Amino acid sequence: MRRTDVLLCTRREANSRDSETVQLAQRAGLIRQFGSGLYAFTPSGERVRQHVIRIVTTELNRIGGQAVDLPQLQYRPIWEQSGRWGNFEDEMFTFENRDGQQMCLAPSHEEGIVHLVDGIVRSYEDLPVLLYQVGKKHRDDHPRNGLLRTKEFTMKDAYSLHASDESLDTWYERVRSAYVRIFDRLGIEFVVADADNSVMGGANSEEFIALADSGTVDVRWCTGDECLFGSTDESKEQDIAAFDSCPDCGAQLTAGEGIEIGHVFKLGTRYSDSIGLHVDTADETTTAVRMGSYGIGIDRLIHTLIEQHADESGCRWPASETARIAPFEVSIIPLDYEGDLKDTADELHRTLDSGSVLLFDDATQTIGERFAESDLLGIPQKVVLGNHFRETNEVEIETRDGETRFVDVGSVTERLRT
Ligand SMILES: [Zn+2]
Repeated sequence: MRRTDVLLCTRREANSRDSETVQLAQRAGLIRQFGSGLYAFTPSGERVRQHVIRIVTTELNRIGGQAVDLPQLQYRPIWEQSGRWGNFEDEMFTFENRDGQQMCLAPSHEEGIVHLVDGIVRSYEDLPVLLYQVGKKHRDDHPRNGLLRTKEFTMKDAYSLHASDESLDTWYERVRSAYVRIFDRLGIEFVVADADNSVMGGANSEEFIALADSGTVDVRWCTGDECLFGSTDESKEQDIAAFDSCPDCGAQLTAGEGIEIGHVFKLGTRYSDSIGLHVDTADETTTAVRMGSYGIGIDRLIHTLIEQHADESGCRWPASETARIAPFEVSIIPLDYEGDLKDTADELHRTLDSGSVLLFDDATQTIGERFAESDLLGIPQKVVLGNHFRETNEVEIETRDGETRFVDVGSVTERLRT
């Protein structure tokens, strides 16, 4: 794509009252605020968001998850059945429609999932199933720190349904492992803490906490290699302190701030009991359907990626084959966009571009501005056409981390991933 054709929303200044991470997201032009607790994603931000969503859904598909899409607008009765109408920590947006019926914007979809399968799932043979969706959620929460707590946000929520406790245990572990793979692929530093179930109900749950200074959760975590032990104020072992030994591996604990990026719940029969979702068993009785519920906050993941990877020049994104997150994979940066450099830059752009290459073709930008903007966006690779190219016909490929190599202009395609 050509820079002169795309809507880049990069800018020099951001609101200094925001955290460094939110300021960077705004300077890189990924998000735009629409008022307290409301953000839009720009074209560059939406590219990042879709890349993150793709990784999350790929891992859920791998373990047998099936995508669904439930209405965000819901009527009051299914929330009355579960006992959560007016009881969702006062965070549910409720209103009356033109016919005088009470409705809400769903803050979560446990009720919706039960409603979706009610009358369809009848026998233990129909289970287990794992259903997921990626969509907007609405909660009238107190906004905090940019994308970390907003009134509208994107969530991947998944629900598993089972005829036995053993099946729920197996699938809970399966989803938990998929979460570990997702966060590992994204290169996120995180821990897992057991947690109070609060508004969701059910037997037990665990939170995935990314370590980040701008986080809003106090967390103690293990410094041991490969150990994911974490503990928050909601954990059962609340009195565990920094510098205690890790109960899992014995290494030393430390303390700081974190961001809740995922949460897995064993809900048991909390919802199927109250709404009446039962299935026939093998011995001709019936049993209440067991449920698990599993969430990942997509916007919080983006905030975390920016915070954990950025440097003083701007965003950096994990750049492995299994995690392509950056808004563009390659930038083509000519020293001047004219003459032979322009011709070669255009030719490279024609050969390389499949939608993930950004050609800096704006003649009004200085070379310094081109470099700075490419780094601000966190584009992993630059193809630089300058004096060295004029002398040798070799272009310089520079990574976002400053590693450079020279390759013949004819072999750029093989040497880049786009
Ligand atoms: Zn440990």
